[in-house]
Amino acid sequence: DRIVSGEADSLEVSFEQSLRPLRLKEYIGQDKVKDNLEVFIEAAKFREEALDHVLLYGPPGLGKTTLATIIANEMGVNIRTTAGPAIERPGDLAAILTALEPGDVLFIDEIHRLPRSIEEVLYPAMEDYCLDIVIGKGPSARSVRLDLPPFTLVGATTRAGSVSAPLRDRFGVLSRLEYYNENQLTNIVVRTAQVLNVDIEDGAALEIARRSRGTPRIANRLLRRVRDFAQVKGNGSITDKLAHDSLELLQVDRLGLDHIDHKLLIGMIHKFRGGPVGLETIAATIGEEAHTIEDVYEPYLLQIGFLQRTPRGRIVTDLGYEHLNIEKEM
Ligand code: ATP
Repeated sequence: DRIVSGEADSLEVSFEQSLRPLRLKEYIGQDKVKDNLEVFIEAAKFREEALDHVLLYGPPGLGKTTLATIIANEMGVNIRTTAGPAIERPGDLAAILTALEPGDVLFIDEIHRLPRSIEEVLYPAMEDYCLDIVIGKGPSARSVRLDLPPFTLVGATTRAGSVSAPLRDRFGVLSRLEYYNENQLTNIVVRTAQVLNVDIEDGAALEIARRSRGTPRIANRLLRRVRDFAQVKGNGSITDKLAHDSLELLQVDRLGLDHIDHKLLIGMIHKFRGGPVGLETIAATIGEEAHTIEDVYEPYLLQIGFLQRTPRGRIVTDLGYEHLNIEKEM
């Protein structure tokens, strides 16, 4: 398990739950998304209607689940949570939809992984709040239409491009979550420290924020590990020095790169003079699957400009060399 992974690990679930902001006002950053949602929520409440369906997309750990919960709280309704791969048959979806109360939020995480047959059940549910279900088999099969209470579907996905066009078109609100800047992440770390009831110096919060790859989940995880060091090696408070030293021990460098990022970049530099080198070749060199590199390792390195994609393959940029303190061979 990578400490800098945006994905949640299974032990983190209840920890994260306790840290979730409950209202829009407490949700730090994502101002554009928040401002829009605020207006739509207020308008829907004024009209006493369910909020339009919302599709949230962006990398893992940026706060999509949190935002879905906040939407339900602000609307004053219940939230029912499920995930694309968990809904296998149309009957599974029908059971969930018919149990909703008027105005409720149905949150479907990883919505791009819904089977196509389920998506088709979802279309009339989203458009007209009704379900067409087929009862029986063969010649005696017939279709029955069931009315549903008005509801809001909040879908989340890390891959907007993998959501089919007909499904995407049925969302009234499409919001893209962005990576957080240093300042916003510092505020998140300070807020989490308050919830956890631990003292933290400003410089320490900033140090953690800088190494969190723009991702609140990583910021909260690093804070938790640093708190362990503070409790065992210090007096419980997170000072600037303690934060710095523990992050070094955790092998997360000052830009949030870990040993895997280093292995990838250094491998490309030493074996291929920094590229261009094809994805498959990189994969073979460091012993990882090509799609893992593409989906998991590479995005952050591309985003901070250490890697570049060219038609002839990936290259390590000058910025990358500089960060690793390696002289570029001419
Ligand atoms: P995934 O899709 O991988 O489940 P996610 O985008 O749904 O990730 P969340 O589970 O909502 O991410 O957030 C991860 C953690 O980060 C939570 O503990 C949450 O409290 C915290 N967090 C996320 N966004 C914010 C924010 N804007 N302000 C404060 N805390 C946040």
